[in-house]
Amino acid sequence: MEKTIAVLAGDGIGPEVMAQALRVLKHVTERNGQTFRTVEALIGGAAFEVHGKHFPEETREICERSDAILFGSVGGPVAELHLEKWKDCEVNALLGIRKTFRFNANFRPVKVFPELMHICPLREEVVNRGVDILFIRELNGDLYFGEKKRFERDGMRVATDLAEYSEEQVRSVAHTAFQAARKRRNKVTSVDKANVLHTSKLWREVVREVAKEYPDVVLEDMLVDNCAMQIIRNPSQFDVILTTNMFGDILSDAGAVLPGSLGLLASASLNADGFGLYEPPGGSAQDIAGKGVANPIAQILSVAMMLRFSFSLIEEAERIEQAVGKALLGGARTGDIAAPGDPVIGTVEMTDSILSHL
Ligand code: NAD
Repeated sequence: MEKTIAVLAGDGIGPEVMAQALRVLKHVTERNGQTFRTVEALIGGAAFEVHGKHFPEETREICERSDAILFGSVGGPVAELHLEKWKDCEVNALLGIRKTFRFNANFRPVKVFPELMHICPLREEVVNRGVDILFIRELNGDLYFGEKKRFERDGMRVATDLAEYSEEQVRSVAHTAFQAARKRRNKVTSVDKANVLHTSKLWREVVREVAKEYPDVVLEDMLVDNCAMQIIRNPSQFDVILTTNMFGDILSDAGAVLPGSLGLLASASLNADGFGLYEPPGGSAQDIAGKGVANPIAQILSVAMMLRFSFSLIEEAERIEQAVGKALLGGARTGDIAAPGDPVIGTVEMTDSILSHL
């Protein structure tokens, strides 16, 4: 049966890299006879120009009628973020869509490609042991969604954000993490601050309860401050890192620098029904938008994640990932991943190279 994908390219480099990702999707799925209907919809600044909103009704309805969402990126140039078109663009578009579809788990795989060791900020002997981490971040609770207050006390400005987790929220994302670990190397590192925070004590308690249902998966607890150090010192020790909304926001960005460019990373946000949104975790990269130089790999790997998670097309996902690896091995380099002296190619040529290996 034909499946529908909502395509939300967004702003900046979004439309450029999305066009290339759709070329790869078409190539892979046409070969196996699977057809997808892609329906484009506006999001971010592009939507604001037409509808006066960053996440308009029309876009929400298209997403609701789809089987998955392929997302580019949103947001304006950093110097223009005060303008009405761009103000709160990321919050309105991204948090709006996350809330609407109750995405509760964010997946961010981080791998260091051996052929791109030169752009990894860590020493070669640290990376040589292999870096292949899956960050799973809870998305619905914590400081982001608790009560927010701003008030005056004794003539001073005071602000508070309430951090809250229910056992159900923790249990749900914990199951997601253990199931993901079973398809990988059977290890979950659950990251919290249980020596200080009540939410973390509950988090640890519930994760341990869930772990009993997965005796084949090793569970390790780690404090967030230690984890931040370990990601830099010895990233090879990790398989799945499961953590809260706030800690996940920060730790997954620390992990994101390991491959060397934001242009190499894909991510997925899933809800309890398995409905998913797939996107590069980087932004709209307005500094390079419109120049045809953006790295399309993050968007192309987001297509691979979508085929794997939303459509169970595992073989097709692997073919895309392998083709990306082969293109890199063959020396294909956009500016963000080039070593000094490397010949540099553009967005379209990088995709051509990936397609030639499919
Ligand atoms: P950014 O992630 O857009 O860019 C950071 C740096 O990484 C830039 O130098 C950029 O050129 C580079 N980069 C990112 N993706 C690349 C790619 N595919 N190929 C080559 N280089 C790439 O962050 P920023 O510049 O701080 O923010 C720009 C806008 O993006 C802001 O409006 C911000 O709010 C928004 N933003 C959106 C998202 C999202 O849509 N998920 C995430 C982060 C930031």
